[in-house]
Amino acid sequence: MSASETPLLDELLKGPWPSFVKEMKEMADTKPMVRDVLRQLEKSYVDKKTHWKHGGIVGVKGYGGGIIGRYSDSPDEFPGAAHFHTVRVNQPAGWFYSSQALRDLCDIFEKYGSGLTNMHGSTGDIILLGTTTDELEPIFSALTEKGWDLGGSGSALRTPSCCVGPARCEWAMFDCLDVCHELTHFYQDEIHRPGFPYKFKIKVSGCPNDCVSSIARADFSIIGTWKDQIQINQEEMRKYVEEGANPLTSAVLLCPTRAIEWDGKEITIDNENCVRCMQCINAFPRALKPGKERGATILLGAKAPIVQGALFSSVLIPFMEIEPPYEEVRDLLERIWDVWDDHGENKERIGELVERMGKGEFLDQIGVEPDVQMVFHPRENPYVFYDEYYEET
Ligand code: SF4
Ligand code: SF4
Repeated sequence: MSASETPLLDELLKGPWPSFVKEMKEMADTKPMVRDVLRQLEKSYVDKKTHWKHGGIVGVKGYGGGIIGRYSDSPDEFPGAAHFHTVRVNQPAGWFYSSQALRDLCDIFEKYGSGLTNMHGSTGDIILLGTTTDELEPIFSALTEKGWDLGGSGSALRTPSCCVGPARCEWAMFDCLDVCHELTHFYQDEIHRPGFPYKFKIKVSGCPNDCVSSIARADFSIIGTWKDQIQINQEEMRKYVEEGANPLTSAVLLCPTRAIEWDGKEITIDNENCVRCMQCINAFPRALKPGKERGATILLGAKAPIVQGALFSSVLIPFMEIEPPYEEVRDLLERIWDVWDDHGENKERIGELVERMGKGEFLDQIGVEPDVQMVFHPRENPYVFYDEYYEET
């Protein structure tokens, strides 16, 4: 593809960073679809507006979600980009692939689509970028023959995702890969057939480091934690100091609740006031380890700013044991969905419903008792009532 066709885009080839323009131009000679997408993007840079029309529904038989329709608003000028649908493919838990699986995926999308992939979308799925309506059923058949399935899109349960957890990480408090895998299988109907007021994302992190950013991105976050005391190995701590580390600056001062003390020989932790943030454990992994009573905190309500502003999730269940077959998690999820089904407005995320309804009412509806760990700012919080207090006064 010649430089004269896309002078503005070519500016992105300058500098030390990799550029999608370089990769796409390499493909443009063999894929007219990619060439026209680049030409259309150049026009968008000139006109300062997108030339994609708003979404649209496309899909495969039996599924309502999994494919996002995309159409050019200038199909005569850019025929190759007239349809450029995005196919979401359900990723394996923790994003572990064999090289054969990746080759299969690439071969399928070279054959039936643009060949462009995005590994991975922010929901976690494998994203196959750009195909036509005619190719959707053939792609779907080719994917399912190789054992793949579509992920979620629209007002549905989105493809659950999780961190690499116990497969590669010593901090996992439970088998987050298994939780993600089991929930994905159990809720196939909710993923493939949109029936919710809006999207619903489940993300599972094995520990409070929250490598999948579930606290910022998931409607329902399952984050590993522990109940008892941080395990301390004083000998290893002293070795860190001999090696030049300073616990005062790397742990004591950084502890958000000032729950750690270091007297020059021993570290002490006030576990009652520890908020399980992992900061000290990350700094001194040989000396400090999470406690032995492990499970997860369940949080609810994060979202990016779409219809309304961004929300972080907040604590719903401070501690839950996470054991297969995860009935307790499923029971909670289904109670939440029931209330959301009854009261949620069109395009209202669960966090927005909780804000509109009030957390006290929401907790009543899902049958969860208020707990002090749900209070964000004591005395500013309108949703925790102590019935005994009101009865006495
Ligand atoms: Fe490891 Fe925790 Fe990150 Fe999961 S969230 S990969 S368990 S550090
Ligand atoms: Fe402090 Fe966080 Fe360590 Fe707890 S885990 S003691 S809150 S730094």
